[in-house]
Amino acid sequence: MGISKSKFIAGLNCKKRLFLEVNHPELKTPISLDQESKFNLGHRVGALAQQRFPGGVNAEPQGERDFNQWINSTQLFLDEKCPVIYEAAFSFEGSFCALDILVREEDDIVAIEVKSSKEAKEIYVLDAAYQYYVMSQLGFQPKRFYLLLLDGAYVRERTLDVNQLFQKVDITDRVVSLQESIKENVLQFTAMLAAGIEPQREIGPHCSSPYNCSFYAHCSAHLPKVNPITSLRGSAEKVWDLHNKGIYSIEDIPSSYPLQTRQIPQVNGVKRGESILNKEPIRKFLSKVEYPLHFFDFETVWPAIPVAEGISPFGHLAFQYSMHIIHSDELNCHKEYLANPDEIFQGVNTEFELIQQMKVDFHSEGSIVAYNATFEKNRLKDMKKRFPSEADFLDNLISRFVDLMELFRPQNIYYLPAMKGSYSIKNVLPAIAPEFSYSDLVIGNGGEASSIFESRCAGSFEGNWEETRTALLKYCERDTYGMVVIWNHLHECL
Ligand code: SF4
Repeated sequence: MGISKSKFIAGLNCKKRLFLEVNHPELKTPISLDQESKFNLGHRVGALAQQRFPGGVNAEPQGERDFNQWINSTQLFLDEKCPVIYEAAFSFEGSFCALDILVREEDDIVAIEVKSSKEAKEIYVLDAAYQYYVMSQLGFQPKRFYLLLLDGAYVRERTLDVNQLFQKVDITDRVVSLQESIKENVLQFTAMLAAGIEPQREIGPHCSSPYNCSFYAHCSAHLPKVNPITSLRGSAEKVWDLHNKGIYSIEDIPSSYPLQTRQIPQVNGVKRGESILNKEPIRKFLSKVEYPLHFFDFETVWPAIPVAEGISPFGHLAFQYSMHIIHSDELNCHKEYLANPDEIFQGVNTEFELIQQMKVDFHSEGSIVAYNATFEKNRLKDMKKRFPSEADFLDNLISRFVDLMELFRPQNIYYLPAMKGSYSIKNVLPAIAPEFSYSDLVIGNGGEASSIFESRCAGSFEGNWEETRTALLKYCERDTYGMVVIWNHLHECL
């Protein structure tokens, strides 16, 4: 096989990437757990899309990928005029593609490509245009080309309705208008690969958009391990401008270079170890809170396929919270909630139960302290829509939030070089309290917590659930305890 759809898209983004994909796949960074779960998600959405077009035959060989067998099965199904073919494969002069769903409408072919997204992104249209090109060259020009996307307006009921989950978007005209440029690119890529000379390309914004390139570690080997220029936060334009001027380390940024205001503390921190402590705004912030303080954090899942009643594609479902409560007389306690994933597996929205537990756990007064409070407030607003009868209670909670991040985001109130230009709690906390760690925990970050819980809700979790449940509780507790650590530290600074 020469060029596939994914290699073609890689080549549009960066010819060096296409060259490396074909000639040096061993230089790729192995795929991460996150990428693997995106891959699995694509499979799950693809399987549901097939239910939307039932009764089809699958052309993809089971087990070992045999491309000839795949193409031959497709041809056979086309000859037999099968009304629906899944994974129909085509190859023209070394260009290969597999189409998610091919529908026959009398003598016409309708092409459908499934995406785990709500938007018809430009990259999907290019993808489809390449498929249209390969199919057309073989005489199987689709009459219409559709993207099958997730419908953001769909709100799940107890059971999932695949007919409402998806929306069909007609991209035929856009795909047809791209045919000349697709042909030119295919010819160019084929000639480049035949010549066997690796194209030269510096790293830049194209390495992470539209997708992260798996050759980044290889291509960025010239950067220093400590404080590389790419770790400078803020404007990416400035980062790549400096890189293109041959400045590979933050330490080497000339003092005359016009940095963004928010980049200056990071650069001064790296070059001179400078910190910032502006006590007045901290005092003001601490004086506005009311006891008892509720240090609060939600964990959520936001899967493409809505997990429960009342949720839309990519809508959040809060499945867990942790809360440390501090009274002015130092009577402290911890409260927590973790939903039963077996209920969610049945389509039950457990947020109603979560709200009832919050009613027990929250005091009727006192500030609610969160880090990036907008996230927590937005989840409560989601719940208001899903459970309007609980609006008064939820509105009361929303009105009591204060956001710890306000003290770190501007980076002119409190900044330490160890924060590395970031105001994320995952950078702020270890800078303030190097002894505070997640390293002893089985689950050590929110993404992992969410993926594990989601896999259990989807019925694909493998492992000991009781142990995992304990690990989830410990992780979320540590997160809110981290806010208490920051809180105490701020008092010590004054
Ligand atoms: S890391 Fe960047 S420069 Fe290197 S192959 Fe990938 S996209 Fe091209």
